[in-house]
Amino acid sequence: MNNDNAKARHNKVLLIYTGGTIGMGRNPQTDALEPLNFEHLIANLPEFAYLKTEIDTYQFTPPIDSSDMSLRRWAQLVRIIHDSYDSYDGFVILHGTDTMAYTASALSFMMENLTKPVILTGSQLPIGQLRTDGKENLVTSIELASAYNDDGHAIVPEVCIYFSGRLLRGNRSTKENADGFNAFNSFNYPHLCEAGVEFNFRHHYILKPDFSKPMIPHYAMDPNVVVFSLFPGVQENIVRHVLEAPELRGIVMRSFGSGNAPQKPWLRQLLKDATKRGVTVVNISQCVAGCVKMGRYEASYQLKDAGIVSGYDCTVESAVTKLMYLQARYSDCHTIRYLMNKSLCGEITK
Ligand code: ASP
Repeated sequence: MNNDNAKARHNKVLLIYTGGTIGMGRNPQTDALEPLNFEHLIANLPEFAYLKTEIDTYQFTPPIDSSDMSLRRWAQLVRIIHDSYDSYDGFVILHGTDTMAYTASALSFMMENLTKPVILTGSQLPIGQLRTDGKENLVTSIELASAYNDDGHAIVPEVCIYFSGRLLRGNRSTKENADGFNAFNSFNYPHLCEAGVEFNFRHHYILKPDFSKPMIPHYAMDPNVVVFSLFPGVQENIVRHVLEAPELRGIVMRSFGSGNAPQKPWLRQLLKDATKRGVTVVNISQCVAGCVKMGRYEASYQLKDAGIVSGYDCTVESAVTKLMYLQARYSDCHTIRYLMNKSLCGEITK
């Protein structure tokens, strides 16, 4: 579908500025980039006045580097969107790139049955710099957030990341490049739209929520999870300290290839003990593309036997935030493990 097919209407978008490079300026004393306020950002974007979409703004005070993103701030974003849900056609969140994929994944779980676009974007160069990528990212995100079909439904009713011409499903996205303008990709899921001269939406891959039902916000996340990466030479005592932490309820284990682990009896035993205590252990691959297939090799068969659940083709960002979400909602580890095996909002291919 191209731009002309999107229903021409006067749409309204809420632009939420959390911080990130897009709105940063150089501190003359330290020469480091630090977040500036929203007025500064808008002053550097005269094109803003020409947008057809009506825009209201909300700013985090103070704006943050996304390294400081937190569960409380995710809940704040959900609250802002929920409280103003009926007043806007879509939402754009300006966010630092470093943790954008975590926020996009978290929000996808925290806003059940989302029927409106929530587009996260940012930039690699501040909007005040001549070669900035921020202007295109921001303007296109606003257009995507206000794109509606003739039937009155949003074309992209899901949490997405828009960056450098690509619209990606939020909970499938990963930051792949710290320097280039193409900062994000979704290795295990097709792009939802390519924004070239025209918008080329891939409707088939876009979520179809029940538009007659309300969006259900969830604010609680349980942070008692850990991401644990395997490597040749991994040491028993160190792993024991991590896996036996009494608060621990969820482990995202980054294994080799299609889900393989060293065939060490102590590792199998530690993982088995953890699952017996009610900890959910999710097996995801260190590869950016492809899917975990437990049992394909002997080196992963033992994991299945230890009660570990497959993370399929999930990103680490998605596995961590899904565990946080499920652990906050359910006390029973069997329900959590069962739901880790289901696609809640398109985060795994099943
Ligand atoms: N450190 C910045 C942040 O994540 C980087 C960026 O915005 O791209 O907030």
